[in-house]
Amino acid sequence: MRTRMLMAVGVSYAVDALFLACFWWLDRVSLGLPLLYAAAGLAHIAVFAGVFRLGWGRQGRDPYLTEWQMVTAIAVQLGAVLLAPWIKAYFLCIIFVVFAFGTLSLTIRQALLMWLSTCAMTAITLQYLPSQHNAAVTIPDNAREAVLVGLAYASILLRCLLLNHYGTVLRVRLVQRQRKLADEVVAVHRLATHDLLTGALNRHAILPMLEEQIHLVQRGRQACALALIDLDHFKRVNDGHGHLVGDQVLCRVVDTMNATLRPSDKLARYGGEEFLLLMPATTLEEALVVLERVRLAVAHQSWQDLVTDLPITLSAGITHVHARDRLDDVLARADTSLYQAKNEGRNRCVCLAAN
Ligand code: GH3
Ligand code: MG
Ligand code: MG
Repeated sequence: MRTRMLMAVGVSYAVDALFLACFWWLDRVSLGLPLLYAAAGLAHIAVFAGVFRLGWGRQGRDPYLTEWQMVTAIAVQLGAVLLAPWIKAYFLCIIFVVFAFGTLSLTIRQALLMWLSTCAMTAITLQYLPSQHNAAVTIPDNAREAVLVGLAYASILLRCLLLNHYGTVLRVRLVQRQRKLADEVVAVHRLATHDLLTGALNRHAILPMLEEQIHLVQRGRQACALALIDLDHFKRVNDGHGHLVGDQVLCRVVDTMNATLRPSDKLARYGGEEFLLLMPATTLEEALVVLERVRLAVAHQSWQDLVTDLPITLSAGITHVHARDRLDDVLARADTSLYQAKNEGRNRCVCLAAN
């Protein structure tokens, strides 16, 4: 983009050199002026192309080195004013194009500084002109010159317009990129916090929630219960029907549980076919009611289209958070109660209170 912008600057110099050549053709300036102007333009392009090639400024806030380019271009215009004062209005107009270029990346502080120094430099330059050149402008004084001046003026307006348009394109592109980035951040956040297969929260997301609930219980703010849920004999589903069907069963189990749960309950996939259910503001007795509802919903769900020969059931180990608990204590207690549920024959919920 830096190279492309530099090429645009080069084209702008070429257009001006061409107009100056026309002024020479109309006998208004000597041949030296368009040649010198073109040489100055080439020097501008060559110096900045070299600087860009060396990689200077690439990482900075302004990779175009706008201020430096503006100073160079304005110096060329003021130099041209000194060489051909009778068409000074033309060069002063080109400074508008230079300023339009500046709007692409200058901060307001830089822009104001540039404006002040340009005004000062222009005033000083005009002071150096012989007095007869500060008299009334005599160009255009015939039809051909009128056409040329009109075209030159139109080209300056067009360049300002194109630069502004380019600025708009950049802004639109930036907004689009920001939107895309925001969508990607949402997608990455979802990937980081949710299980890819079932869409439930993952362990990484649920554990900080549990920590937070433990803090709230410790501050006496509210009760909190949790349950470890494990599917019964799930290995048989995989062995008898394949992993793909096993995956579908897992997804439907999560959907069924979610449909049964309250909005405040948080369900996470804790391991393969094991889930952690966090129930804020819930006592152990209330949690048992919730888990019984979940257990029955899964057991009574229609599984005929996936598994015909095996019951799909779950066992749950329920406990509550005690003020003295650390994270590991609560999880260990939930695990113990889940073991008990399995040992007692599965398809059941077992509660274990803290001592
Ligand atoms: P138990 O009642 O004692 O829990 O028996 P189980 O067969 O469910 O227990 P076990 O832990 O031996 O087996 C769990 C199975 O879950 C084994 C593993 O292949 C399966 N599993 C774990 N993650 C996935 C998964 O993402 N997709 C599928 N299809 N199966 C999985
Ligand atoms: Mg299991
Ligand atoms: Mg298991």
